[in-house]
Amino acid sequence: MALDDLAAPMSRLVDELKRLPGVGSKSAQRIAFHLLGTSREEAERLAGAISEMRALIRLCARCNNIAEGELCPICSDPNRDHGLVCVLEQPTNIMVVERTRSYNGTYHVLHGALSPLRNIGPEDLKIKNLLERMREIDVREVILGTSPTTEGQATSAYLSRLLKPLGVKVSRIGLGIPVGSEIEFIDEATMLESIEGRREV
Ligand SMILES: [Zn+2]
Repeated sequence: MALDDLAAPMSRLVDELKRLPGVGSKSAQRIAFHLLGTSREEAERLAGAISEMRALIRLCARCNNIAEGELCPICSDPNRDHGLVCVLEQPTNIMVVERTRSYNGTYHVLHGALSPLRNIGPEDLKIKNLLERMREIDVREVILGTSPTTEGQATSAYLSRLLKPLGVKVSRIGLGIPVGSEIEFIDEATMLESIEGRREV
C-alpha cells in the first residue's frame, strides 16, 4: 500500500514515526496500525508520556545530561568530584560508567560525535558549555570517554587539541574496549578497567 493511500491523520502519524531513529517506512506503518488497534486510553497514555517527558525533562545546563531542573542529580551532588569530568557521547553512556560504582567524578555529554561522512562538525556537538565550565569550575582532569569508533576517536583527538592548551590534564579511556565498539554495549568490568587504565594524551 502506498503511503498516500492512508487516511490523512494516519499518514501524518506515519510521517512523524519515520523521523524516529531506526524506524523505516514499514515499521512506521506497522506501529501506526498497531496504535489504531489499541484502546483510545492506551494511545492517549503514549501521547501523554511523550508530552510530559518533553515538558518536564530538559538538558542539564552544565553537563547536558537529562535533568528535571536546571542541573542534573550528578551536577547538583556536592559529594561528587567536580574537578574530574568524563566526556561521553550520549546520556545513556553515563549509566555504563555509573554501573562500575567506582567513578565519583562528573560528566559532560556531547550528544553525538564528529562525523565528516554524516556532516556532523564541532558546532553540532555540545562543546561550548564544556569550555564555559572549564572557565567557571576548577577542573583538573578531563577523561575523554568517547567510543573507540572512527567518529569517537576523531572527537577525542579534536577535544584533546582544544582542551590541552587550557592547562588541564586530558586523558583517554580505551584499555580493554574493542576497537570499533560503542561505549553503550560495554560491560561494567571492562568500563572500570578502561577508566582505571586511562592514559594521558
Ligand atoms: Zn549535569
